[in-house]
Formats: sequence, structure tokens, C-alpha cells
Amino acid sequence: VISRGQKGLAERYRPALFSELVGQEKLAQGIRDRWKSSKRPTALMLSGGTGTGKTTISRILSVAVNCSHQKEFGEPCLDCRNNRSQFDIMEVNASDITGIDGVRILASAHRYAPMPPAKMRVYIIDECQGLSKAAQNMLLKPVEDGPPTTLWIFCTTSPQGIIKTLRGRCVQFAIPSLRFKDSERLVRRVIESERKSGRAKAVEDKKLAKFLEQLNEHQVFEPRLILNSLEKFLGTGDPDCVTGVSQDETALLGKYITEGDWAGLRARCKEMELDQLQGVRMGVVSYLRTLLLNERDGPIAAKLCESIKQLAGVYAPEDGMMGGLIVAALFDSCRRFSK
Ligand SMILES: [Zn+2]
Repeated sequence: VISRGQKGLAERYRPALFSELVGQEKLAQGIRDRWKSSKRPTALMLSGGTGTGKTTISRILSVAVNCSHQKEFGEPCLDCRNNRSQFDIMEVNASDITGIDGVRILASAHRYAPMPPAKMRVYIIDECQGLSKAAQNMLLKPVEDGPPTTLWIFCTTSPQGIIKTLRGRCVQFAIPSLRFKDSERLVRRVIESERKSGRAKAVEDKKLAKFLEQLNEHQVFEPRLILNSLEKFLGTGDPDCVTGVSQDETALLGKYITEGDWAGLRARCKEMELDQLQGVRMGVVSYLRTLLLNERDGPIAAKLCESIKQLAGVYAPEDGMMGGLIVAALFDSCRRFSK
């Protein structure tokens, strides 16, 4: 339980350096290599699911490109990190930019050199699949013609929602979910640090093992979601508190869909939070994929194919609308099979 005004674990342990990213060393190296090359990118696209760290990585990058005191790229100094506001960093959520005019206003300064001590003008656009096609088109020119002192960072949960031409102008990085051993490393590191600072007691090995097993069982592999679960675990001492969606659960939901059983599906999804619905979406897609690969060409295969495409293609301008769209796609899929 977090008391008012106190930051949650995910916020307190948000990495500020590339070297603090757990389980994403390869990605960090990939970005570093791009900055070592003679042709540094002026537009990046970071794609990954909820809680994988798109915003975190954008923030580290935005300071790193401005800090002149780093031994290695991606390790901005404390002073620059603490004084991020002295740089020309603009961070916006796509849902805050309304239409073409919004993009025009946003991009109006992209040609100007940043004000010292800033070295780079940085635009971070979160959930950029939420921009209309017209707005995305409007960004093509600024992104392509910008000076080398302007950096665009586009973050998205659904790269398929971004027009191809814009994607093509960005260096693209997909942010992976953590592997099990990295989740474990992250959890152990945070517990140890919480214990040292007196905020948490030591955790019994048996309970910790159970908690880690639960993360795995519920397919919770994103840093932010892991830390949210850990926070509940440390607060309640109950290793069963992990919320997510187990493989058994997704198989059951998949079965409801192929049986056209909306009543069953509805009852299970009613109590779910967004994180869980995201998990349902991914789990059900992979369940249907397995069915499709075992199905001969015919009407059933066609229904499976449509449902996979529909569920995989769900994207919303903001997180708040995502849950509704997932439920709507589940309903459609269910109905397809009930006919
Ligand atoms: Zn610095």
C-alpha cells in the first residue's frame, strides 16, 4: 500500500542510465552503436507493450544527447539529469495534440538550433499511433528535413498504426519484454535495495520463489508491471497477489471465443483491469494462432484468421480507450464463431 505523495516502486526504480536497464542490455548497446556511428539518427521509433520502458528509454536518451560529461553514451551525468528542464526537451502524448494544427504548432520550432546549454532539441511523442493519418503525414517533412540538432523520438505500442513513410524515416527499435531470469534479477535487486533502506523486510526464499513463479504463470514480463506486482507483494506479503493472465485462463477465453460463448467470455473479463486485458489480447492471439496452424483451409480457418487480425490490430489513441477496444474485438470474434 502506498501512502499519499509517496512514489511507487516503478517510479522510484525508473532507470536513469542505460546501464540501469535490466534485461535490455542488447537494446541499449544497439542504441549506443547508432550514436557511435558517423551518421547519428535524427528520428527514432521505440515500440513495445505497456510497461516495457519506452518512456524511460526516451527520457534517458533525451538527456544523453545533451550531456557533454558522459564516459559512455547513455550515462548522462547527475547534474544534467537533475536539470533536465534546462534542455529543449518536449514530451507530449499524441492525444494532447489535436489534429494537423497541433502538429504544426509542435513542429514550428524544429528548425531552430536549441538554446545552450542544450545541444539537441528533442521531441518525444508518446502513443504516436494515436495521431491521425493527416497529422502523421504532416510530420514527414519536419522529420526528414530537420537539422542534425533536432531529434524525434516516437513511442508506440502499435507500430502498425503508424504510416509506412514515417516509420521508414525512423531508426526502429523494438523493446523486448524481460526474460524470466531478468525479471528475477530485477525483483531481487529491488527487494535488496528496499531492505537496505529499511522500507521492506527481508523476504523468505520460499515466498519469493512463489512470487516469481506467479509472475511467470501470469505472464508478467514488463518492468513496470513487475514492479507494480512486487509493490503489492511487499505490502501484503502475499505471493499470490500477482494479477495478470495465466495460460490456462487465456486458453479458456480462447475456447469461449471459438464456441461463440459471449456469456462465458463476458463473465471472465468483467473484473479485469487494463493490464490484464492487454495480457488477454496477447494470450488469445497466440492461442488462436495455434488453432489456425492446425486447421485446414475452410470457414473455421477464415474465422480464426479474421479474429487474429482484428485482435492483433487493436490500437487506441490513448491507454484509456484500449480496454474498450479490446473488449469490442473479443465480442466481434465471439460473434463470428456463434454464427
Ligand atoms: Zn552532463
